[in-house]
Amino acid sequence: MATQYYFCSQCQKKYPTHQKLFDTLYEFSKAAPEDCLACGVVRELHITLDFPLGAGDTDFKVVSAFLPDKLESWLGEEEEEVTLYPFLVVLQRAGDRKQFCWMPYWHVTGKEAKYGQHAVCLDHRQFESLIGQIWGKARDQEEEFELV
Ligand SMILES: [Zn+2]
Repeated sequence: MATQYYFCSQCQKKYPTHQKLFDTLYEFSKAAPEDCLACGVVRELHITLDFPLGAGDTDFKVVSAFLPDKLESWLGEEEEEVTLYPFLVVLQRAGDRKQFCWMPYWHVTGKEAKYGQHAVCLDHRQFESLIGQIWGKARDQEEEFELV
């Protein structure tokens, strides 16, 4: 599982989060991290991935994190409500500033957040290519409807 820490680029100081990754990403999706206690600059959120992402180091700055406006919930085993939290996280590799789109997800039941192991992580361009095809298809279909 990936681990995370806050980083002040001014002081070059790492701050451990003492939090679960889910909580850290959730907070980051809602608001910017707190300022550095020493210099007042906004701290960066960094993630160290435990899986290889091409060549290069495994340290990434979290550029942004998003959740859908509406989350899906359903009744799971033992009639407990389960909510899916599918994140879209834009990561920037420390070495070459290349960006990736990482989609980790959790199933949250009560207070427990279960990590989905098979998160997709794509090169930013590959991700844009996929999303672009959705829009392209939607546009084509609209045009077809207009022709009818
Ligand atoms: Zn600082």
